Amino acid sequence: MVADLVSPDKVIKMNYTLTDATGNVLDSSQEEPMEYLQGHQNIIPGLENALEGLKPGDKKQVTVQPEQGYGNHNPELIFGLPLEQFGGEAPQPGMVVQLQSEEGVMMATIVKQEGEQIILDANHPLAGQVLNFEVEILGIREASPEELTHGHPHGPHGHHH
Ligand code: ZN
Repeated sequence: MVADLVSPDKVIKMNYTLTDATGNVLDSSQEEPMEYLQGHQNIIPGLENALEGLKPGDKKQVTVQPEQGYGNHNPELIFGLPLEQFGGEAPQPGMVVQLQSEEGVMMATIVKQEGEQIILDANHPLAGQVLNFEVEILGIREASPEELTHGHPHGPHGHHH
């Protein structure tokens, strides 16, 4: 029997720590290992490609450039909205808000107040950043037909989206 390797349509359980270029920890799976479905864009392409072929117990350090991560920072996604749209009270910089646009709901981060305008940034918070992942593969299993249809794993807590 061939050992399980990280390959398309397998559910991968892993621990990871994500740090930025200066070593700050941005995110980690410390609370609970993360599961994802390989080959279904559950995670950023740079990480998914780097994990291909690993086996349980393997550890790997992966550096992901913005092009293979959350994209480059696009200055056109910075825009202003009148303060009155926030009920006249300026939201805190760094706060993430949900906006209704013509293309549907979008998320944007409050940058600052400029006079009667609130400046927002709709880039992904990690856009433009070089990301360092430290990954340990904990387990690999076959995906259920339902998971394959949905394109993501359903995990021990049942079905949640
Ligand atoms: Zn589902």
